Amino acid sequence: MGDCIFCKIIAGDIPSNKVHEDELVYAFRDINPQAPVHILVAPKEHMKDMAECATRADDLAGHIMKVCVKIAENEGLVNGFRLVTNKGEDGRQSVGHLHVHILGGGQLSEKMG
Ligand code: AMP
Repeated sequence: MGDCIFCKIIAGDIPSNKVHEDELVYAFRDINPQAPVHILVAPKEHMKDMAECATRADDLAGHIMKVCVKIAENEGLVNGFRLVTNKGEDGRQSVGHLHVHILGGGQLSEKMG
């Protein structure tokens, strides 16, 4: 686990506002929301980003996306939502444990970068 803050959240050592958990992923509300609904979906297994996830033989990346869509439905985001995953310095990733942001609950910024 080391010093990974999201591993500590997933282990329950740091409190979080959980919205979903299954055998593979853990989802919780972002502490500094950038939209009315802002949820993070992270694999329970530590991996640094989606590029690392994409090297796996299994379909964890697909599972994460399916969970994101299900959560968006459960949150009532019928008018749309945005999924974002940041990688590395240029992508402005600030936590080095893969996570996908679910953003919605209102019309989002036109700007993406
Ligand atoms: P990123 O910049 O893509 O790595 O996103 C990291 C996200 O984690 C940011 O949106 C932070 O607000 C969020 N975050 C950091 N610490 C916590 C925490 N303890 N609980 C919930 N969200 C967090």
